[in-house]
Amino acid sequence: MTGEILCVGTELLLGDIINTNAAFLARELAALGIGVYHQTVVGDNGGRLKEAVALALSRCDLLVMTGGLGPTYDDITKETAAEALGQKLVWNQEAYDRMAAYFDCTGRVMSENNRKQATAPEGAVVFQNENGTAPGIAMESSGKIVVLLPGPPSEMEPMFYGQVRPYLEGKTGQTFFSRTVHLFGIGESAAEEKLRDLMEASLNPTVAPYAKTGEVLLRVTAAAPDKSQAQALLTPMIREIRQRLGQYVYGVDVGTLQKAAVLALVERGLTVSTAESCTGGGVAKRITEVPGSSAALKAGICTYTNEMKTALLGVDTNTLEVHGAVSAQTALEMAQGARRRTGAQIGVSVTGVAGPQPSEGKPVGLVYVGISSPWWEDVKELHLARGSGNERERVRHLAENHALYAVLQAALKVKKPPDAP
Ligand code: ATP
Repeated sequence: MTGEILCVGTELLLGDIINTNAAFLARELAALGIGVYHQTVVGDNGGRLKEAVALALSRCDLLVMTGGLGPTYDDITKETAAEALGQKLVWNQEAYDRMAAYFDCTGRVMSENNRKQATAPEGAVVFQNENGTAPGIAMESSGKIVVLLPGPPSEMEPMFYGQVRPYLEGKTGQTFFSRTVHLFGIGESAAEEKLRDLMEASLNPTVAPYAKTGEVLLRVTAAAPDKSQAQALLTPMIREIRQRLGQYVYGVDVGTLQKAAVLALVERGLTVSTAESCTGGGVAKRITEVPGSSAALKAGICTYTNEMKTALLGVDTNTLEVHGAVSAQTALEMAQGARRRTGAQIGVSVTGVAGPQPSEGKPVGLVYVGISSPWWEDVKELHLARGSGNERERVRHLAENHALYAVLQAALKVKKPPDAP
């Protein structure tokens, strides 16, 4: 089956928003074995949208569109797609009832023009929207399938996973199962190099890498009639990946670094406190993003000035004078202070130069991450800048990643109790 992605929205054309829907859908369709040969963006313009839909339908079996399903006059995706397939829009009571319930629940009043969101082509499959108002739709005609999805990723992505993916699996006659291997400390191209032969030779399961800031994920996908047969295909491949990249693999299907760290802490009954400078509390914030983190985080201490590093964390004034705030010695004393002053078993610290200007004569991107626990103490010196101008946010994000990874490593050095949750 060949697929095509068409995203609708003038904001996308103007560059006001990034087309993350296209990236998401391209990845997901590839994982379903659907080859995507074209992606298009069109503004909210009837004529051009019609042209784009006609062109796409002339060369693909499955057209997936996002955006323009809203209630206003310029939301014309559904009308245009239905017309292209020669289908009539009819009232869909279930979509209306769901939308009414959504408005009730959010305490908002439904306006008259929302009613247009409760229509769908006759015989279409309607994907209910659990996170917004516009339902998704799949319509079929003369061997072509058009899937319409809402624009906001927070609505589109859960709809895809919960309803569209099973629908498409039904169409391709195959069920796909994926597992994600999470890597830290290795770049995408280096990981790819070590796995290239597997990626090229193995068609089932497939191995596809993709990069997040400072992390690499490997998606391993198997096509099989059921989960246990998929598992039988996935397990040896994951074992092989672990064998080749073992030191970089920090988990399989663990979600995020912060989730993996919190889980490892909670499983072992451990707590952590953070002492942060250049990340301004970002490490603590990311830990608290994880539900259940209250069992793992004791305190987040943000000490920006030298004075506070001494007052709140007990960093020696002499250390600050001799080595500076951005130094291995200060990082270690910050981590020790966080641990001792809060009674946590693990203290983690970050001190560095996020930029754009150097500080204390030290270059942008120089960051120290300290870790202190009764069983392990360490400081990592990191050089996180690429020299490409204002990298402040990137440097801070990478520094947070390293701190979270250090917490995970510290926790994993403790044996998991046999009765761990
Ligand atoms: P709604 O359900 O809110 O009525 P809609 O289907 O009409 O949504 P749009 O109005 O086109 O969708 O877009 C709503 C918002 O969704 C945009 O302002 C943008 O924030 C986000 N969005 C739309 N398309 C994309 C895209 N391709 N990638 C990422 N975000 C998008």
